[in-house]
Amino acid sequence: MSKDFDIIVIGAGIAGASVAAHLAETHRVAICEMEERPGYHTTGRSAAAYEPNYGPPAILALTRAARTHFQEGGFLTPRETLFFMPEGQEEAFAQLMGIQKGMEEIPIGTAKEKFPLLQEGYAKRAVLDPGTADIDVDLLHQSYLKLFRQRGGELHCEHGVEALERNGQWTVRTKDETLRSRIIVDAAGAWGDKVAEMAGRKRIGLQPKRRSIAVVPGPEGSDFMSWPLVGDVGETWYCKPQSGKLLVSPADATPVDPHDAYADDMTLAEGIERFQQAVDYEVTRVERTWGGLRSFAPDGSPVVGYDGEEDGFFWLIGQGGYGIQSSPALSRLAAALVRGETPPSDIMDEGLALSEISPRRFG
Ligand SMILES: Cc1cc2nc3c(=O)[nH]c(=O)nc-3n(C[C@H](O)[C@H](O)[C@H](O)COP(=O)(O)OP(=O)(O)OC[C@H]3O[C@@H](n4cnc5c(N)ncnc54)[C@H](O)[C@@H]3O)c2cc1C
Repeated sequence: MSKDFDIIVIGAGIAGASVAAHLAETHRVAICEMEERPGYHTTGRSAAAYEPNYGPPAILALTRAARTHFQEGGFLTPRETLFFMPEGQEEAFAQLMGIQKGMEEIPIGTAKEKFPLLQEGYAKRAVLDPGTADIDVDLLHQSYLKLFRQRGGELHCEHGVEALERNGQWTVRTKDETLRSRIIVDAAGAWGDKVAEMAGRKRIGLQPKRRSIAVVPGPEGSDFMSWPLVGDVGETWYCKPQSGKLLVSPADATPVDPHDAYADDMTLAEGIERFQQAVDYEVTRVERTWGGLRSFAPDGSPVVGYDGEEDGFFWLIGQGGYGIQSSPALSRLAAALVRGETPPSDIMDEGLALSEISPRRFG
């Protein structure tokens, strides 16, 4: 394997894999991934939902622009989303209705037909998003890694980057190897600020937040796999059918340092309790749990672009809870910006403002 590249991407989650696949068309690209396999951290731990009404404005634009790629590649399976407004969540309901596109308020009776577990009296109002879907995350991630390899890209697993030096070009040191490149792409997920610090950059204040998920049995004898994703508009719990089970999340967002995340038992128990208040169904056992880190910049929008004019350090972090659904568009945009090209017009036409994602917004 060669040691000199045009571009080294740090991190082989969905962000690194997708941008590297695009860049490998025109450049010699390597990915350095610290784990044995790509996707071990946040990318392999998501709820796999495509929710075009979920996220800050930049994410909404990117998620809409991603739909064509998702559909053409067969990565989506339609699944409606149904939000309930219990008492006390009137403000969150009004906020959602203010930004949404294509959602409709439906009578509680209709909501109960779609989600038969809904407990009498819990929801004051209900709103349906018919444009949401399940994403086959593994297929999507693997498709980018395959394209990357076909285009001559080199994936180096067990290559945790330990030091970065700039001397005309970048020297990237891992435990066993030294690689060189003109450009570095920081796609290190929760570790994004740590990688930036290694490169002598100022931290942007990235905050990883833990989110936990419990896998519980669905009600016997019911066709629950066709039910919508359901949750409250205030985002204190959600539930989604997946692989013959129900995923229940407390929708936690606990600030933590970057680490190999796991679910917090107490948080899960409290979330399951909130779920139980919304449904006529008793969760009798939890079969499996996991936790993952959703990482946010201080203003909640992703951080995408060169740090300075000349030095070849490119940020691609802060995708929060929306990094899968936005990745097909975000990776095309990021690849264009890395190359110094005009951003793709179909993405800009969705209303994306580059100033909202630029690293320079933090001064
Ligand atoms: C419970 C949960 C539910 C979610 N649900 C959804 C959802 O429904 N829809 C959606 O779109 N998004 C969802 N997300 C968010 C989504 O999963 C993330 O935004 C996305 O996976 C982030 O991808 P990434 O590539 O930036 O990070 P990661 O997948 O974490 O990849 C970063 C990679 O960088 C590597 N790395 C770090 N430091 C170094 C180093 N020094 N050297 C080499 N490699 C390094 C890591 O090993 C890791 O593999 C969810 C997240 C969680 C936790």
